[in-house]
Amino acid sequence: MNTISKNNFGISFSLPTKIILERHSLEKLFLYLKENKLTKTLLIISQGALERSPILMKLFKKINTITEIKIIPYIIKSHTKASTEELLRIKKRLSCENFDSLISVGGGNILDLGKAASICIDESVQFATLVGSTFEHVNKKLFHIAVPTTFGTGSEVTKGAIILDSSNGNKDGIRGTAIFPDIALIDSTLGHTLPDNILCETIFDSFTHAFEAIQAVKQNRFIELLALESLSLVNNVVDKYSKGNIDDQFYDDIAYIALLGGICVCHNSTCLPHRFEQALSPIYKLSHGAGLAAFYPEWIKFLIEHHVEKPLPNDITQGMPLNEYVEKILIKLKLNTLIDTLKTLDITPKNISKRIKGNITNDPLVNKIGNEAINSLAINYLGKR
Ligand SMILES: [Zn+2]
Repeated sequence: MNTISKNNFGISFSLPTKIILERHSLEKLFLYLKENKLTKTLLIISQGALERSPILMKLFKKINTITEIKIIPYIIKSHTKASTEELLRIKKRLSCENFDSLISVGGGNILDLGKAASICIDESVQFATLVGSTFEHVNKKLFHIAVPTTFGTGSEVTKGAIILDSSNGNKDGIRGTAIFPDIALIDSTLGHTLPDNILCETIFDSFTHAFEAIQAVKQNRFIELLALESLSLVNNVVDKYSKGNIDDQFYDDIAYIALLGGICVCHNSTCLPHRFEQALSPIYKLSHGAGLAAFYPEWIKFLIEHHVEKPLPNDITQGMPLNEYVEKILIKLKLNTLIDTLKTLDITPKNISKRIKGNITNDPLVNKIGNEAINSLAINYLGKR
């Protein structure tokens, strides 16, 4: 059994995004636009976010009326995936008018679109090879303010954007320093209108980012510190949720754990559950967080069976083994039966393995037993060979 790293001094940390986490910070949006001398901005926003918070459109209209700044909405229909097709439409819009900035308002999907859109006018960005590419530097980048309305992906502070390649149905990341948002504007009051299922699924996503940062092969003592802070807050949040004790502090905390999770992801990356989720996302109807909840129990079981799990401090697990600790979180968030939905999928374990993309060697199981880890998990998930 491994232990959490206490003696690795190879610490690397970089975050070019300015973070503003404050209740009602969105109301000060015009100040941030003014401060950065921005005058014309494309607002990429989901229909869902607009419907949940009608106050948003009022706010943008007010900025348009009382300031010189022009905010022009680009509304993304509900259930639209962040895809190269959508990105191409945004690029056309950006190319025919002289925008100097972008604001993305929505869940991780919308923020990811905004991150990819912020560099899409650069000549090095070719749509045929975009998904799976890394951009450390581009000549033309639009200033990007990312405003999360769900609190789970932490996409506002990561250098990855998960985009569906419309030409072949594969989902993979566009990565690199160039796509970090310039400002992460995190207003926890936007969480007040989150539907119950999205709330639970996104809390679980935040949990996985901290948990996987610790389990990952890649180690960074500084990031593990943030991950542990996040996990102890997750315990709190999950308890409050299960007792129906939801107050303003609860929303501050979920916004904060999502932020910490994002910082974890962009430094230590993630493990196999995220690779499986990415692979199956174009196939099933589960959300990112729900998919992770389906994959987690078997993955943890495998970590323990192969003795590659890193134990967590007792004050976080309450002395429970990792499988029981995670199961308890899943039960409290009502996400503990999702593995059954995987058994109904019309796909073979071999096909799942083929769809797995991205960095798999960061997973402790793959690191120990190789691709066999993926095949065995896929068989267990589907309940067939
Ligand atoms: Zn995630």
